[in-house]
Amino acid sequence: MRYPDHAEPVVTLTSGPVNAYAAVLQGLGRTVLYDYDPAFQRFYESVVGKAQEAMRLSNRPVILHGEPVLGLEAAAASLIAADDVVLNLASGVYGKGFGYWAKRYSPHLLEIETPYNEAIDPQSVADMLKRHPEITIVSVCHHDTPSGTINPIDEIGALVAAHGAYLIVDAVSSFGGMKTHPEDCKADIYVTGPNKCLGAPPGLTLMGVSDRAWAKMKANPAAPRASMLSIVDWENAWSREKPFPFTPSVAEVNGLDVALDLYLNEGPEAVWARHALTAKATRAGALAMGLSLWAANEKIASPTTTAIRTPEGIDEKALRQAARERYGVVFSSGRGETLGKLTRIGHMGPTAQPIYAVVALTALGGALSAAGMKLPVGRGIDAALAVIDADGTN
Ligand SMILES: *Cc1c(COP(=O)(O)O)cnc(C)c1O
Repeated sequence: MRYPDHAEPVVTLTSGPVNAYAAVLQGLGRTVLYDYDPAFQRFYESVVGKAQEAMRLSNRPVILHGEPVLGLEAAAASLIAADDVVLNLASGVYGKGFGYWAKRYSPHLLEIETPYNEAIDPQSVADMLKRHPEITIVSVCHHDTPSGTINPIDEIGALVAAHGAYLIVDAVSSFGGMKTHPEDCKADIYVTGPNKCLGAPPGLTLMGVSDRAWAKMKANPAAPRASMLSIVDWENAWSREKPFPFTPSVAEVNGLDVALDLYLNEGPEAVWARHALTAKATRAGALAMGLSLWAANEKIASPTTTAIRTPEGIDEKALRQAARERYGVVFSSGRGETLGKLTRIGHMGPTAQPIYAVVALTALGGALSAAGMKLPVGRGIDAALAVIDADGTN
């Protein structure tokens, strides 16, 4: 049996976009209200309230109406002024990429870069801040998805706050899948979205903004206004009393509302636990099959994505093609510098269920066997099941 390219795969186990929850898809089909209708304005206010609860914020988050790259670029454009000195922390493709945006708005860029299978050491940040008291902004990616590795943002955030600098965090692929909130890491701008662990389609940015970041952006004459990149224009859009600067993505907001309900009703701790368990079972199975993790050590391996190092002599693209063609299972490739070097199994939203670890390991093991690599696939499945069955809550 074969799954041809023109047919939908059976299961998408990528690190985003992910399969949306069925209830979210139904939510997308709700009535598209006129954005100035009082019912929509009340609804929008309530969705922002749910996002505030999910993000555990003391003020209102902002919804921007484009997938989270819009939010990241808007953060760079709005917060970074030409006289700011930015310290960009790069442990992967997204962290590195933020530095290019930062550089567009200020020529003063410092960087700490690690190999892309490691995490940022908070001590290196402390040392850099000490050597460069002129640093005013620090930027960091929490889960650098193309590496499947996690940076210690709460520790980094404490150092940055003590220094008095502003902190920009990309938490797009971690928020909703593990314990992380803007105020836990003292972020001034915290960017996430519905299209990873919240299990909704790509199309919106969710952003936490600290009071002092609002003040800095509003005082920055170069911060975009009357622009798709503007954050400032949306400051009061959450309120039913205030107009929208332009038309919000009504259907996406309908979907987000359901995604937030699912997250809050299941209970964030329970949601994080099934992400962590799925990842743990996947790692155990991969190791038992004789594969290697991309992450330099298991402590920094993400609970929302497992990156597996491409075995010697294997063509990574052909490997993913074989998994799709033989079993209808889709994985993510690496990106940029990690392309070809690893295969990523996403555990996000609806696919953060432990049984998908078994599905992923089976498809990966089968595809590797097809490529001529003899692997004890059964041993991997046994190891994954042992992790799953040992977990009392599942
Ligand atoms: C998914 C993701 C984004 C959003 O960007 P796309 O590349 O367009 O999907 C931003 N940052 C991180 C860390 C992500 O995983």
